[in-house]
Amino acid sequence: MRISDIYRENSTVFSCEIFPPRPESELSSIYRTIEEISSVNPHFVSVTYGAGGGTKKRTMQISSDIKNRYSLEPLMHLTCIDSSREDIESLLGQLNDKNINNILALRGDIPEGREKGDTAGDFRYACDLAGFIKKAAGNFCAGVAGYPEGHPESENYEKDIIYLKNKIDAGGEFIITQLFFNNDCFYSYIDRIRAAGIKVPVSAGIMPVFKASMIKKMVMLSGASIPGELDFVIKKYSSNPEDMVKAGVEYARRQIEEIIASGTAEGIHLYTMNYGRLAREILGGLTGTRKSENKLS
Ligand code: FAD
Repeated sequence: MRISDIYRENSTVFSCEIFPPRPESELSSIYRTIEEISSVNPHFVSVTYGAGGGTKKRTMQISSDIKNRYSLEPLMHLTCIDSSREDIESLLGQLNDKNINNILALRGDIPEGREKGDTAGDFRYACDLAGFIKKAAGNFCAGVAGYPEGHPESENYEKDIIYLKNKIDAGGEFIITQLFFNNDCFYSYIDRIRAAGIKVPVSAGIMPVFKASMIKKMVMLSGASIPGELDFVIKKYSSNPEDMVKAGVEYARRQIEEIIASGTAEGIHLYTMNYGRLAREILGGLTGTRKSENKLS
């Protein structure tokens, strides 16, 4: 099913993100994660893709298994940095054969040591990939990434929104945001993108904090700000892993409940970090709402 139709039919779309295990690890670990996730019946499950295509085979395999083995809807992430048109065309053909038609169109991070915007392939930005997917043969539905606190390379919020609109105009049918911990940042982002005429559904990216050590890395990669309340939780439980997990789950759950109550997001996208149990604890009881009327069209 096209994810754009899932948004049309549900008042809040719940999704979970997983990543392929390292090449040296068995795929079985991810199947355990998917089984745990499937107990909360998410509307779709997304699978990340290595920026240079390093996880291509595994990402495709897992996406295909999500569909054919677990009867869930997969969203396959696809990065285009350094790819040729022929590479992407051939990959789309393979996805079509496997009945995978939802793709998150991404540029991917520029490898360290290269200039900002230095992509070596036929695609410079994600909007080029979104446009390519839209024109490709097959019934593809492309989503794109959004950044409530700005993309690390971007000059300012205004330009970021202009570039986001380019991605939608090119063919992006929904937006999944970067993780954030401060809901106010998300609300003001939604105000700005709606004011810019972006009307597609947006899923808010939520990541539970369950290890004090991971926070530094996540903040560095995403640029997400840490509200005082979360900072307090991290400091309080940094040497108590069990209570840290409980507090992290509670914080994420509260973030989600507030976003749903605010009516600002069409979906919640949980970055599970492959911890299926946490997905259950956070999303349990929230999923499964169906829409009685079509909000967006
Ligand atoms: P773009 O939208 O192309 O933007 C990249 C930068 O270029 C931004 O700063 C933007 O403002 C700027 N820009 C865009 N258009 C123009 C223009 N016309 N002129 C000048 N500047 C412009 N990475 C992975 O490797 N694998 C994944 O699976 C993955 N999944 C992700 C999922 C989500 C939900 C999110 C939010 C991010 C994900 N990423 C993933 C990270 C992503 O690849 C990086 O953030 C990457 O640096 C940018 O990708 P993009 O698709 O947002 O790029």
